[in-house]
Amino acid sequence: MTPVAASRVLVLNSGSSSVKYQLLDMRDGSRLAAGLVERIGEETSRLKHTPLLGGGSEAREQNRPIADHEEALKAVAAELAQDGLGLDSPELAAIGHRVVHGGKFFTQPTVIDDAVLKEVERLIPVAPLHNPANLTGIRTAMTLRPDLPQVAVFDTAFHTTMPESASRYAIDVKTADEHRVQRYGFHGTSHAYVSRKTAELLGRAPEEVNVIVLHLGNGASASAVRGGVCVDTSMGLTPLEGLVMGTRSGDVDPAVIFHLMRVGNMSADEIDVLLNKKSGLIGLCGDNDMREIRRRIDEGDQEAQLAFDIYVHRLKKYIGAYYAVLGRVDALAFTAGVGENAAPVREAAVAGLEELGLTVDGELNSVRSDEARIISPEYARVAVAVVPTDEELEIAQQTYALVAPPEVRNA
Ligand code: AMP
Repeated sequence: MTPVAASRVLVLNSGSSSVKYQLLDMRDGSRLAAGLVERIGEETSRLKHTPLLGGGSEAREQNRPIADHEEALKAVAAELAQDGLGLDSPELAAIGHRVVHGGKFFTQPTVIDDAVLKEVERLIPVAPLHNPANLTGIRTAMTLRPDLPQVAVFDTAFHTTMPESASRYAIDVKTADEHRVQRYGFHGTSHAYVSRKTAELLGRAPEEVNVIVLHLGNGASASAVRGGVCVDTSMGLTPLEGLVMGTRSGDVDPAVIFHLMRVGNMSADEIDVLLNKKSGLIGLCGDNDMREIRRRIDEGDQEAQLAFDIYVHRLKKYIGAYYAVLGRVDALAFTAGVGENAAPVREAAVAGLEELGLTVDGELNSVRSDEARIISPEYARVAVAVVPTDEELEIAQQTYALVAPPEVRNA
């Protein structure tokens, strides 16, 4: 009997109380199923499963307590089996896991073994929220299919090419090295995908193109990509540094922290929550959804307007900084929830930058579409693009490239 060519990859993104998943067919990158388990460990857990095979069918929902990640993954496996896509299928080639922190060590997607698990565990002090959840997802998936290759795709990997001039903080070297304090960057899978797609959109090879990528979701980061290689990014030791985000402050004077400790009598944990959860757009105006902020601005709300202005001001500073880092910029690419959908943010971010060759065409900018597209006028020196990100596809492709049987890969 000829063995079945394994061409499917299950992508798992395990958070502390959630698991997002997609099953993809790597022959054409199509989606066979997608879903989400949320509020794991609570009374009100929910599993939403969307079958996408052959045009798809209605989503199925389970609302019942799901105690832990093992139960969650078993429930996902049962849903997939119901669509004839069970985890025991010989067509499943691998499971690709999003792992947030890979430190300096993991520069590439990696097939997971005991040594890899140990290293991801060793990185917990620099990613206390994310890596433990990622590890739980991996360990659970390994117990469900111990024979199957499991691949870790790291959020930090794309940024490991940053030169030390960009990745080092200007603090005492010995202290920094002892505690692994440096700039790692995050959202790397998205920056990799979007910078490559942008080159494709320009009809050029990634090696020829310099791109500034603005990943503007609830979390937000910018990157400077020279010839397909990341040379700087705005997030640092943790995802707190850089742009103004939905709930994170981005850059602040580090002395703000000592000040709040000494004068505000706040603890380190309280300030951690303040800067990560209660700052950014939500801290400035009480809303972190750009749609709501725009609606309030349209009604003349001054607080929402100021939050928007601070958000855009920071974006502009990073565009200017990365323009200088790259020297020559071929494209500026907007992606993620805000970047893909909020035309006013795109317009405001490049307003007044005509001298840098940056401008958007009002009409092209206001078109709504799921397609990658250029929104600058033809004469513009720098292409401004909207490029929908697809982290799951990127994780699946990186995973499959590592594990695919050669006869399939080369077919
Ligand atoms: P993400 O983290 O990439 O899923 O992005 C989520 C964020 O995108 C939300 O918090 C909103 O601020 C923003 N967003 C999503 N849809 C829109 C839209 N149509 N217009 C403006 N902002 C949007």
